[in-house]
Amino acid sequence: MAVEPSSPDSHADPSDQTDSDLHWMSYALELAEKAGVAGEVPVAAVIVRGGEVVSEAHNRTVTDADPTAHAEVVAIRAAAAAQGDWRLLDTTLYVTLEPCAMCAGAIVLARVPRVVYATADPKAGMAGSLENLLQDDRLNHRCDVTSGVLAERSSTMLRDFFRARR
Ligand SMILES: [Zn+2]
Repeated sequence: MAVEPSSPDSHADPSDQTDSDLHWMSYALELAEKAGVAGEVPVAAVIVRGGEVVSEAHNRTVTDADPTAHAEVVAIRAAAAAQGDWRLLDTTLYVTLEPCAMCAGAIVLARVPRVVYATADPKAGMAGSLENLLQDDRLNHRCDVTSGVLAERSSTMLRDFFRARR
């Protein structure tokens, strides 16, 4: 078996990324930018079904004084409330940063079929970095996961945000 040469471009686009993934991640990144302006860590999530937004949110932990008010959790709650059903069937959840343990747990509980995230979070990411709760065979739900969509834009935004606060 031939050894595959490593990619010369470490920021190559993920192979399963679609045009609509780029569209919605770009949309989420604009929302994340607003979070940063509001003094929140610039992370946002958008839940999409059939090409339409079901819900969208950015981090609100500072604004709401709520440690659980991460973008994904706020968006999941809003989507479930809007449809009157806790199962978010046929949706894709876009988020600009790899989900943490709490958010990955909420995504599994909500039965979200597909998750697309931008940049990895080596310190808290539970969708491939530290663990992969979204694709654990022992749990009763597994998601399709695409990572690295517009990752560079998201990581630059986060880096600039934390640098400006120092
Ligand atoms: Zn989280």
